[in-house]
Amino acid sequence: MEKKQELYRGKAKSVFATDDPNYYIMLYRDDTSAFDGKIIKQLEDKGRTNNHFNFFIMKKLEEAGIPTHTVKLLSDTECLVKKLKMLPVECVVRNVAAGSICRRLGVKEGLELKQPTFEFFYKDDELHDPMVNDSHILAFGWGTQEEIDTMKSLSFKINDVLKALFDKAGLILVDYKLEFGKDVDGNIILGDEFSPDGCRLWDKETRKKLDKDRFRQNLGGVIEGYKEVARRIGCPL
Ligand code: ADP
Ligand code: UDP
Repeated sequence: MEKKQELYRGKAKSVFATDDPNYYIMLYRDDTSAFDGKIIKQLEDKGRTNNHFNFFIMKKLEEAGIPTHTVKLLSDTECLVKKLKMLPVECVVRNVAAGSICRRLGVKEGLELKQPTFEFFYKDDELHDPMVNDSHILAFGWGTQEEIDTMKSLSFKINDVLKALFDKAGLILVDYKLEFGKDVDGNIILGDEFSPDGCRLWDKETRKKLDKDRFRQNLGGVIEGYKEVARRIGCPL
């Protein structure tokens, strides 16, 4: 498949057209952003690491019956994906309290939740991705009730699959962000990426953070953390 013009340059990835109107090429760059793009830094080997990590996870999800946009790896930093019309929301599932839920609800980081939570955030960096609910999605016409229900049930199904996968590797899946889109037939498909850039993973024994919080909190060893997770889950890099 031939790579054509760059259609969109996000904070971490670039989206390219191909000679087939139904497919895009995702290029994973080394750019790493935090705080809605306020801080941007290059981290050596991040693009390659996340591309391989994401591909490995997406294949596991496909095997578990989750529809994803991932088609095939094209290079160390490029992946062929199905073109989707993205819904402008981020779906966040939490198993343990960390990050924004601690600030919003005054709970301690590390609090184990009795059951996973589900939250929608409106994707808008200038507005700092405000939290929204079903009624906002319906009122602004971002999605239908059926699409909302599908995003929720797929997000929880993904939680079952990934919690088990990381648990086997001695890791706690604290929380994660997903993005869904619609394919040409209107099906809700998992898009974007799943990597340590968009989730929290802690070592089960030591609670050492092995995700993007190492970058946000200036803990150092960011990509080393991502690579340790990859090694422990058996993801080839
Ligand atoms: P951001 O836009 O938040 O800065 P990225 O740098 O990761 O994030 O850019 C990737 C962009 O591509 C995101 O806006 C994401 O919603 C979008 N995207 C992900 N998967 C697809 C897809 N299959 N089809 C179309 N757009 C996609
Ligand atoms: N997340 C993300 N992109 C965002 C916001 C959050 O990938 O724009 C991920 C984040 O890495 C974490 C989860 O979603 O794994 C929950 O994030 P939270 O709401 O706690 O926000 P944060 O404090 O991390 O900004």
